[in-house]
Amino acid sequence: MAKKMIQRPRGTKDILPKEQIYFKNVEKTFSETVEKAGFSKITFPTFEDAKLFNRSIGKDTDVIEKEMYTFSDKSGNLLALRPEGTASVMRAYIENGMQSWSQPVKLYYFGPFFRYDRPQAGRYREFFQFGLEVIGDNNPLVDASLIATAWRIYKKLNIENLTIELNSIGCGTCRPKYEKLLKSYYQDQKGACKDCLRRLKTKPIRVLDCKNEKCLMIQHDAPQLINNLCSSCHDHFKTVLEYLDELEIPYQLNPKIVRGLDYYTNTVFEIWNQKEKAQNSLGGGGRYDGLAEILGSSKKTGIGFAGGVERVIDEIKKEEIEVSEQKKIDVFVAQLGDKARKKCFRLLNDLLDAGIGVETRFDRGGIGDQLRIASNLGVAYTLLIGQREAFDETVIIKEMDSGNQEIFPYEKIVREMQKRLKK
Ligand code: AMP
Repeated sequence: MAKKMIQRPRGTKDILPKEQIYFKNVEKTFSETVEKAGFSKITFPTFEDAKLFNRSIGKDTDVIEKEMYTFSDKSGNLLALRPEGTASVMRAYIENGMQSWSQPVKLYYFGPFFRYDRPQAGRYREFFQFGLEVIGDNNPLVDASLIATAWRIYKKLNIENLTIELNSIGCGTCRPKYEKLLKSYYQDQKGACKDCLRRLKTKPIRVLDCKNEKCLMIQHDAPQLINNLCSSCHDHFKTVLEYLDELEIPYQLNPKIVRGLDYYTNTVFEIWNQKEKAQNSLGGGGRYDGLAEILGSSKKTGIGFAGGVERVIDEIKKEEIEVSEQKKIDVFVAQLGDKARKKCFRLLNDLLDAGIGVETRFDRGGIGDQLRIASNLGVAYTLLIGQREAFDETVIIKEMDSGNQEIFPYEKIVREMQKRLKK
């Protein structure tokens, strides 16, 4: 009996060569944009001690309760596949003594993240994020700069029709007071969903981003945190808005942006497609001034942002934005006969050593067949070696556009091609 084919796990994908151009384009545009704004790259493990996320993201969150992949390794350590980047970057900041570097420390990352989510369009169990973190400066100017940098990434990718949805969720002083107000408001309401009733006990502000229809109605008249911020959070947020106005960055104040995770404080924001709204956000972030302390370090303020690569690519495709890639193959090497094949094998490697992009098909015998492949590849030149050229130690250069052919001695061919291709 034939064995059952093994397939990739649900919610994962193979990124085939044709699709790579989109990923490369996002990564390149992102890294070039943020490096110009002074960010340096950090790479951190794809798995961490599960406690890192349990503590920082918080137990009563969807990410920890339902979505995190945890496993014990062979020594019995409880590990987790990283569901997001901020906790890891803060861990790395503390562990590598970045407190002693010039502050703020500005870092960026790009890579895969893992969440056991219900797979659907734009939602995967393994997905890529591009992210930024600025640690060690709580000036509102830093918030505005980070939002401006995030916005610039989408602009550089030529994505339009986006909005920044912005809110402040206050701090450890004003948020608990507000949550009391919210709880008492909900006590007078009927019909909130089971999840919200539970959230009111564990993490009350999360009732504000519930999508249940009845809950949406209740939310409508709920007290707003933005009207209940303490004076320091109020001033901080007001200044962030002033700086964003200065740059004429379009934003919407949105009291429903609360971000699910425990570590957020003050400024929080998401980037949405104007039409689809919250359906599939393209990115999100916020300030996390309490995170370092949650991880057992002294207080260190920070703000970060992460964008979803697959969602950005979907948007690029939907908006039919042209994504081009520089051609890598300049030359096709064609051969006729056994002796020629050996010479061609040598020529191929000499050209590659010289930094010239080369393709060939050693399995094809007919010259017509090989020239057709060369023309499909769109190369500028085909180099031909037949029995005679192999014997004479020469190579025929065929210019594909004009069809002109010239014969060159083998030892001069690499130099000649470098000259013609300006390599
Ligand atoms: P979050 O911090 O959860 O808002 O995630 C930041 C960004 O990552 C989101 O705005 C999405 O663009 C993307 N993202 C989050 N979860 C997924 C997922 N399961 N599949 C694909 N992209 C995701």
